[in-house]
Amino acid sequence: MTEQYDYLIIGGGIVGLSTAWQLQQQCPDKRIVLLEKESAFAQHQTGHNSGVIHAGVYYAPGSLKAEFCREGVEKTIQFCQDNGIKYDQCGKLLVATNPLEHERMLALYERCHQNQLDVELLDAAQLKEREPNIQGLGAILVKTTGIVDYRQVCNKMAERFRETGGQTLLNTQVTAMEEDSDEIRVQTNQGTFHCRYLICCSGLMADRMTRMLGIETDFQIVPFRGEYYRLPEDKSDVVKHLIYPIPDPDLPFLGVHLTRMIDGSVTVGPNAVQGWKREGYGKINISPTDIWDMVRFPGFWRVLKKHLFTGLVETKNSLWKPGYLKLVQKYCPSVKLQDLEPYPAGIRAQAVLKDGTLVHDFLFAESPRSLHVCNAPSPAATSAIPIGRHIVERVIKAQSET
Ligand SMILES: Cc1cc2nc3c(=O)[nH]c(=O)nc-3n(C[C@H](O)[C@H](O)[C@H](O)COP(=O)(O)OP(=O)(O)OC[C@H]3O[C@@H](n4cnc5c(N)ncnc54)[C@H](O)[C@@H]3O)c2cc1C
Repeated sequence: MTEQYDYLIIGGGIVGLSTAWQLQQQCPDKRIVLLEKESAFAQHQTGHNSGVIHAGVYYAPGSLKAEFCREGVEKTIQFCQDNGIKYDQCGKLLVATNPLEHERMLALYERCHQNQLDVELLDAAQLKEREPNIQGLGAILVKTTGIVDYRQVCNKMAERFRETGGQTLLNTQVTAMEEDSDEIRVQTNQGTFHCRYLICCSGLMADRMTRMLGIETDFQIVPFRGEYYRLPEDKSDVVKHLIYPIPDPDLPFLGVHLTRMIDGSVTVGPNAVQGWKREGYGKINISPTDIWDMVRFPGFWRVLKKHLFTGLVETKNSLWKPGYLKLVQKYCPSVKLQDLEPYPAGIRAQAVLKDGTLVHDFLFAESPRSLHVCNAPSPAATSAIPIGRHIVERVIKAQSET
C-alpha cells in the first residue's frame, strides 16, 4: 500500500486523537490519517490512568501545565456534555495528616489562588462532616475536580475526526521513517505512507520515534509503573470526594489517593516504581530491549542516584501490601488489608534529560516536516484539548514558514 497524506499522526492515545480531531476541523480540505499500533484506541497511558479531570492545583503558575490544565477542565466537561459522555464533578479533598503536611497545605492553598481555582479550606471538624471515614488536621476542598472514562472520550474524538473526513487505522505499527525536503515516508507493518507533515504523539515510544527520524534530542523515556488496588463493592461509598494526601513539593507526583471511578468503584493508588518494560502491565514484566536502552542512558543512573531512598521505599510498598496499606490508612483507617483487590497498573512515560532531570512540563522536538510530543505528563488527559489546539497552531505556523 502506498498512500499520500497532508498530515500523518502517530498515536491513538488522547493527545494524538485530540490533535487529529481539531486539525481536521481547522483544515477540512486536507487528507489526514492517524495510525495506532494497537487494535483499539487508548490502550496505554490514556486507558490505564486514574480517570481524574484535574483542576490544576500543583503546577507552577504561568507554566504550560497550569495553563493547559485550567482550560482543559472546562473543555473536557464541555466535550462530555456535547457528546453524551458521563462525568462527575465530585470534587477533591487534599488532606493534611500531620503538622508538616498542614504547613505544606497552607502553601498549596496559596498556589490554588495563584492558579485561580475555586477552593475552600476545611478544619478537622468540617472535614469529618464532609467525609466521616477520613481523618486529618484539615483539608483543601477543590470543587472543580471531576472523574470520567478517558477511553470513552478517545472513542468519541476518533468518531468526530472520522465524521469530518479523517481516517484512523488500527493495528498499524510504525517501524521506520525517512524525511527529505518534500515529504516523510513512514513504513509500517501495513505498508508505506507518504505525508507532507508528521505529528508524533507516541507516549512511551516518543524517544524511539525522534531517533527514527535522526532528530538530536537530550531526553529518553524512562517508564514508571503506577500500581493500583480496587476496594470491594461494599466499600464503594467509603468516600464522596476524591481523597489525596498533601504532596511533598519536591516529588509532587507521589502519594497514593482514593479515587472514585465513573463506574462507581473506588481505586487506591497509584504508587510510582521503576518499570522494566515500557508496555508491560502484569506484576512481573521485563523487556531486555527496554532495559538495555535504560542502562545505556546516563540520565537513568542519575535519577536512580538522586531518588534512591524514595525508590526503595516505593518498591518495598509495591512488594509488601501492608506497607502500601499504611499510606492509605494514614487518612482512611477503615480500609483493611483484605480490601485491597487487584486492579491493572498504568505506566507513565517520563522524559528524563541526560543530566538526570525529570521533565515535569511538556516537551516538544521538531524537524522541518515533523513535530514530536516528547513529554505529555499528567494531567495530559485533562489537558488534551488545549494541548491538541496548541499542536495544531504550531504545525500550521511551522508550515506557513516553509
Ligand atoms: C498511572 C497513571 C495515572 C494517570 N492519571 C491521570 C489522571 O487521572 N488524569 C489525567 O489528566 N492524566 C493522568 N495521567 C496522565 C495521562 O494519562 C497521560 O499524560 C496521557 O494519557 C498521555 O496521552 P498520550 O496520547 O500522550 O499517550 P498514550 O495514551 O500512551 O498514547 C500513545 C499511543 O501511541 C501509540 N504508539 C506508540 N508507538 C507507536 C508506533 N510505533 N506506531 C503506532 N502507534 C504507536 C501507542 O500504542 C499509544 O496508543 C496518568 C498517567 C498514568 C500512567
